[in-house]
Amino acid sequence: MSDQQTWDVAIVGGGIIGLSCAFELARRQYRVVVIERDEPGQHASRVAAGLLGTASLPVGEGDNIFPLKLDSLRRFPEYIAKVESIGRRGAGYRMEGTLWVARDAEEDEQLEALHEKRTQLGLRSVRISGPEIFPVEPELATGLAGGLLVDEDVQVDPRRLLEALKRGVRNVRATLLTRSQAIGGEFDEAAEVWTVHVRGQDVAEEVEPIRANNVLITAGPWCDDIVAARGESRTPLSPTGVGPVKGQLLRMRGPRVIDRVVRTSNVSLAQRRDGELIVASTKEPEAGWNLTPTAEAREELLDRASGLLTRIRELDLEEHSVGLRPAVADHMPIIGPAGRPGLWIATGHFQHGILLAPSTAFWLAQAIESGEVPELLKPYGVDRLGQTQPSMEAAR
Ligand SMILES: Cc1cc2nc3c(=O)[nH]c(=O)nc-3n(C[C@H](O)[C@H](O)[C@H](O)COP(=O)(O)OP(=O)(O)OC[C@H]3O[C@@H](n4cnc5c(N)ncnc54)[C@H](O)[C@@H]3O)c2cc1C
Repeated sequence: MSDQQTWDVAIVGGGIIGLSCAFELARRQYRVVVIERDEPGQHASRVAAGLLGTASLPVGEGDNIFPLKLDSLRRFPEYIAKVESIGRRGAGYRMEGTLWVARDAEEDEQLEALHEKRTQLGLRSVRISGPEIFPVEPELATGLAGGLLVDEDVQVDPRRLLEALKRGVRNVRATLLTRSQAIGGEFDEAAEVWTVHVRGQDVAEEVEPIRANNVLITAGPWCDDIVAARGESRTPLSPTGVGPVKGQLLRMRGPRVIDRVVRTSNVSLAQRRDGELIVASTKEPEAGWNLTPTAEAREELLDRASGLLTRIRELDLEEHSVGLRPAVADHMPIIGPAGRPGLWIATGHFQHGILLAPSTAFWLAQAIESGEVPELLKPYGVDRLGQTQPSMEAAR
């Protein structure tokens, strides 16, 4: 990289959100560099189950990100087609839909409420009785009380998607700077350009700074650290309040048992075409940054899953995965301008970062291109948090 190069956009963080934004912006002819502390596509993005859907339980709780989820779900086919063709890899997108199941009469009432709510919203779903589950998914436990088929809610394999995306990003000529940690930055008002300071993970010292007209922070639950990292003796700032919510899930392997995603209120199962079966997942906000897999979580997930698939313990447990979902207090993402010229942020996608990647990338690119915040992104501004807005300058 030359000393003089000024990028159109420097993206800090190469998870699903940063990579999807890089892909979208570079396809729009922006010169993009992604600065990633480790290797791209590790952390939560690699751990995720990859469930893509708008239906959720319990019904009655306000779903304040519903419009964004629906928009993103409907962008998925085109997003996948582009990532797969430009990245020249399959992303494990399965379109067999989702089967919600009820284990008792109370859960069956919840499914009825979910069905009614979807009908009111103009969304399709089909109610089936307990005995009608067998022809749909013959391996599921007998005696289930009822079901709801939601064809629109599908799945992707985040690990395959990330591989395709990394190749896609390179093929559209964006640059991936790996093992490089952004440690702060400043804005030159006269030149209207950002300088991002970067420390090499392997050399443990600062490397050549990156100059860019725009900086987009997509560092997951670590976004606030970037602001604080340079002034280690100073009180760390918490400008967005984004933090981790630990999640554990199991990756099993065995013969084909299900085609659809199978869900209840406390466990979800999804099987990839290669036989990998996902059992998802715990939510442990009290665990902070802890990444230890626990036997307790493993047993709880297997117990819940065995209520749906009695033979679950006969499958091989290949991996017990742990990740940190990036979340803010209201569980809505933060997507948009970040209070300084040319400074943008996209984080806090919590349990929907894979689902929300296409919309986040598309609408953020629109915002950067037009300088206007699109209508759909307005509820997700950083200003709603009522805290200090993130400023990379604060790090100096
Ligand atoms: C158990 C579990 C199950 C899930 N299931 C689903 C699901 O079914 N569907 C769904 O849609 N979502 C799901 N999610 C949520 C989803 O994984 C996250 O919302 C999403 O991965 C967040 O992506 P991200 O790019 O914002 O963050 P991350 O994947 O955390 O990426 C952030 C990146 O920033 C880098 N970084 C941090 N600091 C710096 C720095 N200073 N300089 C450079 N780089 C830096 C990190 O190394 C990392 O690579 C699940 C999550 C978990 C944990």
